[in-house]
Amino acid sequence: MAKLYFYYSAMNAGKSTTLLQSSYNYCERGMDVLLFSPCIDTRLTKPYVHSRIGLKEEAVGFDDDLDFFTYVKEQEKKLTKLRCVLIDEAHFLKKEQVKQLTQITTEIQIPVLCYGLRSDFKGEPFEGSKYLLIWAEELVEIKTICHCGRKATMNLRIDPAGNSVEEGSQIQIGGNESYLSTCMVHFRESNKKFSKGEITQVYAELNQ
Ligand SMILES: [Zn+2]
Repeated sequence: MAKLYFYYSAMNAGKSTTLLQSSYNYCERGMDVLLFSPCIDTRLTKPYVHSRIGLKEEAVGFDDDLDFFTYVKEQEKKLTKLRCVLIDEAHFLKKEQVKQLTQITTEIQIPVLCYGLRSDFKGEPFEGSKYLLIWAEELVEIKTICHCGRKATMNLRIDPAGNSVEEGSQIQIGGNESYLSTCMVHFRESNKKFSKGEITQVYAELNQ
């Protein structure tokens, strides 16, 4: 039976790499897949799924208004070997869209694999992640580590000067911010106690 999957993690855990590997596995067996990526950054003409290790594949862009169920149903008529739907940065999905994804699994019977963050830099859930955590039949954690060696579950936003940022919009487009994936201890400490110098140091070490 086709299921909705949510592969979740903190930043920089290799979600897009895992997505592209799954896509490759289907294509290698002569099957078709549909790749979706959000049109958050309108400076890019075509949406791509990018991975940090250099892999890249063109995708269908989605915004808040795309009806995934209708789109996939239409595409299925053309792509007779359509066997999987893959969604990058799935935390940007809206509640209604996550519902449409469940419909794809039950009515069209194609598995849907979503990859995304669980929470934003304030520790709050993204709308897409919230409903994926509830409605996905399979939850898979992609693990990454904090600079201290513990599992990282949170995301810190860091400004260009190395300061952790606690205020601001959930989605930052075209800014110079960076993100650090941290364990809960360092997520809490960083917001309260870490000096600018300490954060800069941590960031510099991770970028060596
Ligand atoms: Zn830590």
